[in-house]
Amino acid sequence: MIFNFGSINADHLYRLEHLPAPGETLAAQSYTLGLGGKGANQSVAIARSGAKVRHIGAVGADGRWMVERLEAAGVDCSHIAEVEGASGHAIITVDAAGENAIVIHAGANREIPLSHVKQALDGAGAGDALIMQNETGGQVEAARFAQEQGLFVIYSAAPFDAEATRAVLPHVSLLIVNEVEAAQLCSALGVTLGELEVENVLVTLGAKGAVWHDVARGHEIRVKGFPVDAVDTTGAGDTYAGYLVASLSEGLAVNDAMRVAAAAAALKVTRPGTADAIPTGAEVADFLA
Ligand code: ADP
Repeated sequence: MIFNFGSINADHLYRLEHLPAPGETLAAQSYTLGLGGKGANQSVAIARSGAKVRHIGAVGADGRWMVERLEAAGVDCSHIAEVEGASGHAIITVDAAGENAIVIHAGANREIPLSHVKQALDGAGAGDALIMQNETGGQVEAARFAQEQGLFVIYSAAPFDAEATRAVLPHVSLLIVNEVEAAQLCSALGVTLGELEVENVLVTLGAKGAVWHDVARGHEIRVKGFPVDAVDTTGAGDTYAGYLVASLSEGLAVNDAMRVAAAAAALKVTRPGTADAIPTGAEVADFLA
């Protein structure tokens, strides 16, 4: 079983002629509400791949529809708590040229007590995996507990936060970052990738693919991206992370798991949208056939 201690966000997307200036009030040309949050996206990717995933998280009363969406995608939502206050959400404004300005509020994502995580992981151990991102609170305690239970702990360290990452790393088996985050992290900590205090680092390189650094053994595995006509790269990293973790959990070798993840992410970028645009395992298998 894969456990995802992850964020759940309502994405409020407003299209505008131009981004509002300070003091300006603007009418939106359109509005859409979608399920988002790196955690939710990764759970959807894992579930669509066909693997079992239990999402550990929280929403406010305004977020019940998001739990229903996750359930519909095949995610085990038995450990998504309903707490006081607002669900995590993002106010996304996009202008005619595609430029955006985004406000996020973590809300319920920061209200997940460690006792809740422990309850969700009851009975889990070797052979199970826990994935986390940077949009919840309490990652260090959750990672330490999971590590003690013998789970394989994966940390998708986005959005970038050097201090949070430094604190979690000792309890992580696999760190997943994109190229920009990898550079920011090394610069903030004053180390090279090979000097990070973690067994494995997977760096995604956009269209170029990804490289897996086996830090402990000092070797790396490179797997190219698939050439496709990209229309929307949002959620590419989450699709990659979800499919990678699911494939590793099924026992695939690292290079094979990276190939499946690259195919899933390539399919995602050919479609507009985030969670709804993540392909199914059957679509990925077709793409690779
Ligand atoms: P993030 O979305 O976190 O910034 P990346 O941009 O590195 O992450 O993308 C994650 C993965 O998605 C890449 O490793 C690659 O496999 C795939 N991908 C991203 N952009 C493209 C693209 N233009 N064409 C094909 N695959 C892509």
